[in-house]
Amino acid sequence: MADVVVVGAGIIGLTAALELQATGAEVAIVTAEAPRDTVSAVAAAVWYPTKVDADPRVLGWGRRTFEVFGVEAATAVPGVTMRPTRMVVRHDPGIPPWWAPAIPDFTLGAAEWHFTVPAVEMVPYLTHLLDRFEANGGTFRRQRIDSFADVDAPLVVNATGLGAARLTGDDRLQPIRGQVVIVDNPGLTTSIRDEDHPLGPVYIHPRSQDVVLGGTFEVGDTDRTIRPATAEAIIERTTQVEPRLAGARVRKHLVGLRPARVGGPRVERAGHIIHAYGHSGAGMTLCWGTAAEVARLAG
Ligand SMILES: Cc1cc2nc3c(=O)[nH]c(=O)nc-3n(C[C@H](O)[C@H](O)[C@H](O)COP(=O)(O)OP(=O)(O)OC[C@H]3O[C@@H](n4cnc5c(N)ncnc54)[C@H](O)[C@@H]3O)c2cc1C
Repeated sequence: MADVVVVGAGIIGLTAALELQATGAEVAIVTAEAPRDTVSAVAAAVWYPTKVDADPRVLGWGRRTFEVFGVEAATAVPGVTMRPTRMVVRHDPGIPPWWAPAIPDFTLGAAEWHFTVPAVEMVPYLTHLLDRFEANGGTFRRQRIDSFADVDAPLVVNATGLGAARLTGDDRLQPIRGQVVIVDNPGLTTSIRDEDHPLGPVYIHPRSQDVVLGGTFEVGDTDRTIRPATAEAIIERTTQVEPRLAGARVRKHLVGLRPARVGGPRVERAGHIIHAYGHSGAGMTLCWGTAAEVARLAG
């Protein structure tokens, strides 16, 4: 029998499983979906604390995650890079945002902020994490559980994202629907954010072969179907911000439901269950820091 069973194989479950293995534990993963079918695989995924509130714990997780991805980018881990970002500031607060201390080169300007952050291509990265987990002797099983009582292990990690609402009865969890468009990269290398654009939220995240265009933040919306009108509107406003996107070939459309939680992510131990869910639009941004906390709570 494993020492710990991690339920969930998104970015939170996989990183937690690896940190637990690093403490010497025998770890098994049980998951309803394969990593490439999770919400995590839809993420853009750029370091930025989207839809999480200012909180010293969250900042700490973000800092730790930034450091780990920095090392992984420098050592050519699949899918990980550092991405310069230009962020349009329409309502200048005059002071750096609460998350700026995590970013070494954050530069404040009246109309724009500039900074460099980790960016991850999630499908190759999640695959890499699962490979590492299995190479360390971890076991992986596909199974949807109905209750944690069905999981036979001395310690269980609940990394089920939005699935935690049903498993724990946590009524603070709510989906925030996000739709994105993936297009050919016309040669872009800088991420752009313009969250308060008059036509709607704009983010433009170049990757090695393509660009992620976003986005939407539809609170409480559980519809996973692609809405063509939403896609057209995303293309229109992102092209207005970055004209080089004009005519870029659309590769695909994606939708995901961010696991948002009123009060912030739940990372705490209750008896033999360590809860690690509710990372909203920032699961990639907070994953390695969360994983370190899970390992600490396990000890
Ligand atoms: C459009 C979009 C863009 C995003 N961009 C970013 C970004 O740029 N940066 C960033 O940091 N974050 C971003 N996010 C947010 C990020 O994707 C999430 O915060 C993250 O994926 C949450 O990870 P998770 O592991 O908690 O959940 P998930 O990835 O949803 O994984 C949950 C796991 O639990 C399993 N599970 C659930 N219920 C059960 C059950 N009953 N039994 C067994 N297994 C179960 C699932 O199968 C899955 O394996 C974005 C999200 C979206 C939708």
